[in-house]
Amino acid sequence: MDMGTILRVNLTTGKMTRESADRYEKWIGGIGVAQQILYDEVKPWMSPFDPGNRFIVATGAMTGMLCPGSGRIAAVTKSPMTTGIASGNAGGVFAPKMKYAGFDYIVFEGRSRKPVYLYLRNGEAKLLSADEISGKTVGESVDWFEEKHGRQVSSMCIGPAGENLVRYACVTIDRFRVIGKCGFGAVMGSKNLKAIVADGSEGSVKPADLYGLKKKLDDIYARIDSNANYKHLMDYGTLCHIPGKYLTAGFSFRHGQDLNIPKEMAEAYDPDNIVGTYRVHQSSCGGCFVGCQNHHRMLSGDNAGKVVGGAPFNSVLNFGTKLDVTNYGFCVEATWLCNDLGMDMDAVAEILGWLMECYEKGLITAEQINGMDLPFGEEKNSLELIKMIGYRKGVGDILAEGVARAAASFSRETEYYGIHMKGNDLYEILRPLIGYGFGAAVSTRGGSHVLGSPVCESSKFNEAEREMAFRKFKVKTFNDPLAYDGKAEIVTYYESLTRACSSMGLCIFVSDWQQIHMLDHQDLADLLKYSVGLEITAEELRERMMAELSLEKVFNYCHAGFTREDDMPKERLFKEKVPSGPAKGAVLDYDKWNAMLDHYYEIHGWDTETGTPTPETLHSLGLDNLIPDLMQPAQVPGHAFIHEDLVK
Ligand code: SF4
Repeated sequence: MDMGTILRVNLTTGKMTRESADRYEKWIGGIGVAQQILYDEVKPWMSPFDPGNRFIVATGAMTGMLCPGSGRIAAVTKSPMTTGIASGNAGGVFAPKMKYAGFDYIVFEGRSRKPVYLYLRNGEAKLLSADEISGKTVGESVDWFEEKHGRQVSSMCIGPAGENLVRYACVTIDRFRVIGKCGFGAVMGSKNLKAIVADGSEGSVKPADLYGLKKKLDDIYARIDSNANYKHLMDYGTLCHIPGKYLTAGFSFRHGQDLNIPKEMAEAYDPDNIVGTYRVHQSSCGGCFVGCQNHHRMLSGDNAGKVVGGAPFNSVLNFGTKLDVTNYGFCVEATWLCNDLGMDMDAVAEILGWLMECYEKGLITAEQINGMDLPFGEEKNSLELIKMIGYRKGVGDILAEGVARAAASFSRETEYYGIHMKGNDLYEILRPLIGYGFGAAVSTRGGSHVLGSPVCESSKFNEAEREMAFRKFKVKTFNDPLAYDGKAEIVTYYESLTRACSSMGLCIFVSDWQQIHMLDHQDLADLLKYSVGLEITAEELRERMMAELSLEKVFNYCHAGFTREDDMPKERLFKEKVPSGPAKGAVLDYDKWNAMLDHYYEIHGWDTETGTPTPETLHSLGLDNLIPDLMQPAQVPGHAFIHEDLVK
């Protein structure tokens, strides 16, 4: 298997070199390769903003192959939020444009003295001055790139938030698709790297077996076409999930004080209402025909008339229900502002929700937040606070640190209300969805449902789908949201499947994570054979992904000191029962959670006391070289996200 080309960019010296990625074949591509590079080259004593930290961008084995979902671009770094491993991906057309420019991976190290961007075009790579767009928003910067290089370019760009080292600054792809969590934008900002612009058009990909790939793709198209749920995704984007969430109490309401929203709110956020009132058109990522991205027109405020991409289901949960705002126009504007300033909207919404709850309880006063009144439902001051965070103005400077660090700056009482995992602000709902919540809690990047959380718990299954799900998971509780039994197995299944997708450059929306009849390990193994000629069984693929996960765990132990207690959710989720609605009374059970965690560690061959892989497990996964690292005491204290000053 030809693993392609790594471009290495030293931003301190401006020197660029190229090398083959073949020695990383074991990891298939995408985040697998990038995480091994990070592990080898970044040392535990380096802070995320140390010039020695790496910012790595990776395409996957399926990039450019015209497979549905194959437009994802991945990134890996040491996270400013957790000081542990950070991985993420986003859609759009950047990945194929980078590949067609002749590059499969880019590894940035060092720090430029002046703002620069990397321009890639048909085998050429140049570092160019970004002086003219320093301090500009993402939208202004993309306008500038298009004027200078043509409208065909695609970019990964940071806004003022990244330049100002807002810890949860994101990287925005072409104005509205984001690699959101973990603070990638802040790492780019710390390196004075404003953007990467890809303009590839001459390169091509050559499938190992064109006929085999075509047959496989025909099968995938037919499986998407024949499924009613994909029709909903195509019709409404991820907004299609809103009615189902209403029925299962899947909304954080008033910062999770309830998970049940009022009927009038549910009606206002009905997908038909939203689409009829705000939507202008839809778009798809490169190589995909699902088209799940909505573009909306802002109808009021300073930007009335502007058409913006984004505002998916998350926007309703983040800026609508969580803040008790019944106004989709506000959700669109807040989402656009986050994307344009370059900040993860999930983290911004968690901070705003936490502030509103603490304000309501009298734990934070108007004087502490620059004289602002901030009850639930407050729209104007919320928008103002988003801008203050992006520019680190006033109290925005504290809020830019994320809820874990910001709460520590206010008072111990406020810490109880901030919801995060491993220092990363938590968007996911845990109490009525045990498996989904468990997947988010144990996620190595800190609070994230895309690396193992199952969504099948709240899905509807027909008989044939039930049988298929049982064959895959080998447990019966896949559709029982409140059961603890069997959830460790299902999370383990999706940990390997989602990592395989991320290593291949595929969107999990076309996998059986989204719909049980869609791509599973065997399908992914077939795609690898036909596209890049890698002969691998489904079981071998699963094993390699388990090795990838163990490498992440060792990285987290060495760099952040994470142990078992960092896989435990916040105390309030074990204490506060959901007060109303379909999930009334739901609360996490401490003993059952611990038993589930024990079982999960046993399945992985990890130590149940520390939550880290055992030497025997690392040996069996072919990771013997990691064993000495694990044998040393962690080089930072536990909960490094709070004590990071010790490792600067
Ligand atoms: S399913 Fe949606 S998000 Fe995924 S690649 Fe296709 S258009 Fe993009």
